[in-house]
Amino acid sequence: MTATGKQDDDVRDLYRELILDHARSPRHFGKLPHMTHTAEGINPLCGDKLKLYLDVADDDTIRDASFEGSGCAISVASASLLTDMIVGLEANQAIRYFEAVTAHLVGDGKMHGRAPVDLGKLRALEGVREFPARVKCATLAWHALHSALRHDAAPATTE
Ligand code: ZN
Repeated sequence: MTATGKQDDDVRDLYRELILDHARSPRHFGKLPHMTHTAEGINPLCGDKLKLYLDVADDDTIRDASFEGSGCAISVASASLLTDMIVGLEANQAIRYFEAVTAHLVGDGKMHGRAPVDLGKLRALEGVREFPARVKCATLAWHALHSALRHDAAPATTE
Protein backbone atom coordinates (compact mmCIF):
# COMPACT_ATOMS: atom_id res chain seq x y z
CA MET A 1 0.00 0.00 0.00
CA THR A 2 1.31 3.44 -0.88
CA ALA A 3 1.40 6.29 1.61
CA THR A 4 -1.31 8.08 -0.38
CA GLY A 5 -3.56 5.02 -0.29
CA LYS A 6 -3.20 4.85 3.48
CA GLN A 7 -4.10 8.52 3.76
CA ASP A 8 -7.21 8.00 1.62
CA ASP A 9 -8.28 5.16 3.91
CA ASP A 10 -7.73 7.34 6.97
CA VAL A 11 -9.84 10.11 5.46
CA ARG A 12 -12.58 7.64 4.57
CA ASP A 13 -12.58 6.28 8.13
CA LEU A 14 -12.75 9.81 9.48
CA TYR A 15 -15.70 10.63 7.22
CA ARG A 16 -17.48 7.42 8.19
CA GLU A 17 -17.03 8.24 11.88
CA LEU A 18 -18.30 11.77 11.35
CA ILE A 19 -21.44 10.48 9.58
CA LEU A 20 -22.10 7.89 12.29
CA ASP A 21 -21.55 10.45 15.02
CA HIS A 22 -24.03 12.90 13.47
CA ALA A 23 -26.54 10.10 12.78
CA ARG A 24 -26.37 8.84 16.38
CA SER A 25 -26.48 12.26 18.02
CA PRO A 26 -27.92 14.74 15.55
CA ARG A 27 -27.15 18.41 16.24
CA HIS A 28 -29.95 20.98 16.21
CA PHE A 29 -32.67 18.31 16.46
CA GLY A 30 -36.16 19.55 17.39
CA LYS A 31 -38.35 22.56 16.73
CA LEU A 32 -37.08 26.12 17.01
CA PRO A 33 -38.82 28.38 19.54
CA HIS A 34 -38.91 31.08 16.87
CA MET A 35 -38.85 30.36 13.15
CA THR A 36 -39.34 32.35 9.98
CA HIS A 37 -38.92 29.62 7.36
CA THR A 38 -39.77 25.96 7.20
CA ALA A 39 -39.87 23.22 4.60
CA GLU A 40 -40.50 19.53 4.46
CA GLY A 41 -38.35 17.02 2.63
CA ILE A 42 -39.47 13.59 1.52
CA ASN A 43 -37.41 10.84 -0.05
CA PRO A 44 -39.95 8.11 -0.88
CA LEU A 45 -37.26 5.80 -2.21
CA CYS A 46 -35.74 5.31 1.23
CA GLY A 47 -38.55 6.54 3.49
CA ASP A 48 -36.67 9.57 4.78
CA LYS A 49 -38.86 12.40 6.02
CA LEU A 50 -37.71 15.58 7.62
CA LYS A 51 -38.79 19.09 8.46
CA LEU A 52 -36.32 21.91 8.44
CA TYR A 53 -36.80 25.05 10.51
CA LEU A 54 -34.95 28.32 10.02
CA ASP A 55 -34.85 31.56 11.93
CA VAL A 56 -33.70 34.19 9.46
CA ALA A 57 -33.05 37.75 10.64
CA ASP A 58 -34.11 40.88 8.72
CA ASP A 59 -30.59 41.25 7.34
CA ASP A 60 -30.88 37.71 5.88
CA THR A 61 -28.54 36.10 8.43
CA ILE A 62 -29.60 32.61 9.47
CA ARG A 63 -29.79 33.04 13.23
CA ASP A 64 -30.72 29.45 13.97
CA ALA A 65 -31.62 26.22 12.21
CA SER A 66 -33.01 22.87 13.31
CA PHE A 67 -34.73 19.80 11.96
CA GLU A 68 -37.08 17.01 12.95
CA GLY A 69 -37.93 13.76 11.28
CA SER A 70 -36.79 10.26 10.75
CA GLY A 71 -34.78 8.46 8.16
CA CYS A 72 -31.64 6.52 7.46
CA ALA A 73 -28.27 7.40 8.97
CA ILE A 74 -27.16 9.31 5.87
CA SER A 75 -30.25 11.54 5.72
CA VAL A 76 -30.09 12.34 9.45
CA ALA A 77 -26.33 12.96 9.39
CA SER A 78 -26.69 15.20 6.35
CA ALA A 79 -29.44 17.28 8.02
CA SER A 80 -27.33 17.51 11.18
CA LEU A 81 -24.26 18.65 9.23
CA LEU A 82 -26.41 21.13 7.31
CA THR A 83 -27.84 22.81 10.40
CA ASP A 84 -24.36 22.93 11.95
CA MET A 85 -22.99 24.55 8.81
CA ILE A 86 -25.54 27.22 7.96
CA VAL A 87 -26.09 28.93 11.32
CA GLY A 88 -24.50 32.37 11.04
CA LEU A 89 -24.49 32.38 7.26
CA GLU A 90 -26.48 34.71 5.06
CA ALA A 91 -29.31 33.06 3.15
CA ASN A 92 -27.53 33.46 -0.19
CA GLN A 93 -24.38 31.87 1.24
CA ALA A 94 -26.47 28.91 2.40
CA ILE A 95 -27.85 28.61 -1.14
CA ARG A 96 -24.25 28.51 -2.38
CA TYR A 97 -23.66 25.53 -0.10
CA PHE A 98 -26.79 23.87 -1.48
CA GLU A 99 -25.39 24.37 -4.99
CA ALA A 100 -21.95 23.13 -4.00
CA VAL A 101 -23.22 20.02 -2.21
CA THR A 102 -25.54 19.01 -5.04
CA ALA A 103 -22.83 19.71 -7.63
CA HIS A 104 -20.39 17.65 -5.60
CA LEU A 105 -22.70 14.69 -5.05
CA VAL A 106 -24.79 14.65 -8.21
CA GLY A 107 -22.94 16.63 -10.84
CA ASP A 108 -19.35 17.09 -11.87
CA GLY A 109 -18.49 19.10 -8.75
CA LYS A 110 -18.05 22.28 -10.79
CA MET A 111 -19.72 25.53 -9.84
CA HIS A 112 -20.02 26.60 -13.48
CA GLY A 113 -17.90 29.68 -13.49
CA ARG A 114 -18.75 30.66 -9.93
CA ALA A 115 -16.25 30.74 -7.11
CA PRO A 116 -15.79 27.34 -5.48
CA VAL A 117 -17.18 26.77 -2.00
CA ASP A 118 -15.09 25.09 0.68
CA LEU A 119 -17.29 22.18 1.72
CA GLY A 120 -15.29 21.46 4.88
CA LYS A 121 -17.00 18.77 6.97
CA LEU A 122 -19.66 18.33 4.28
CA ARG A 123 -17.05 16.36 2.33
CA ALA A 124 -17.91 13.52 4.67
CA LEU A 125 -21.03 13.00 2.54
CA GLU A 126 -19.05 12.29 -0.60
CA GLY A 127 -18.91 8.53 0.12
CA VAL A 128 -22.48 8.30 -1.21
CA ARG A 129 -21.43 9.27 -4.73
CA GLU A 130 -20.80 5.59 -5.46
CA PHE A 131 -24.39 4.78 -4.45
CA PRO A 132 -26.91 6.77 -6.51
CA ALA A 133 -29.85 5.74 -4.28
CA ARG A 134 -28.05 7.14 -1.21
CA VAL A 135 -27.30 10.42 -2.95
CA LYS A 136 -31.00 11.26 -2.50
CA CYS A 137 -30.69 10.59 1.22
CA ALA A 138 -27.68 12.91 1.44
CA THR A 139 -29.23 15.75 -0.58
CA LEU A 140 -32.73 15.62 0.98
CA ALA A 141 -32.06 18.17 3.73
CA TRP A 142 -30.37 20.42 1.19
CA HIS A 143 -33.40 20.40 -1.08
CA ALA A 144 -35.53 21.25 1.97
CA LEU A 145 -33.17 24.15 2.74
CA HIS A 146 -33.54 25.43 -0.81
CA SER A 147 -37.36 25.20 -0.61
CA ALA A 148 -37.45 26.88 2.79
CA LEU A 149 -35.37 29.85 1.67
CA ARG A 150 -37.38 30.14 -1.54
CA HIS A 151 -40.66 29.82 0.39
CA ASP A 152 -41.91 26.93 -1.75
CA ALA A 153 -45.20 25.61 -0.45
CA ALA A 154 -44.84 22.07 -1.78
CA PRO A 155 -42.61 19.63 0.11
CA ALA A 156 -39.17 19.08 -1.37
CA THR A 157 -38.97 15.62 -2.82
CA THR A 158 -36.10 13.73 -4.27
CA GLU A 159 -38.37 12.22 -6.93
ZN1 ZN B 1 -32.22 7.44 3.24
